[in-house]
Amino acid sequence: MIKTVLDPCETTDKEYKISADHVPYVAEDDCIACGACEEICPEVFTVNESLGFAQVMNPSGAPATKIQAAVDACPVNCIHWADEPK
Ligand code: SF4
Repeated sequence: MIKTVLDPCETTDKEYKISADHVPYVAEDDCIACGACEEICPEVFTVNESLGFAQVMNPSGAPATKIQAAVDACPVNCIHWADEPK
């Protein structure tokens, strides 16, 4: 399913499309709570200090390219896309 949402990272109201299945998740057991994902894409990721791992708070809160930048920056590769092949 494709839905259209407003891009909160753009200064205009430019729209982008994101698949409902193309959302990120954090493999919590592998997360070292370094904060890189939150620093790059705080619209989507937040580090839960009390739990000791990052969480996806708003999976469609940023364009896929920005989320991918957070995925690529994760030092332990524990952020994945829900629809990626296993
Ligand atoms: Fe955890 Fe990876 Fe985010 Fe660091 S970048 S807080 S290891 S999910």
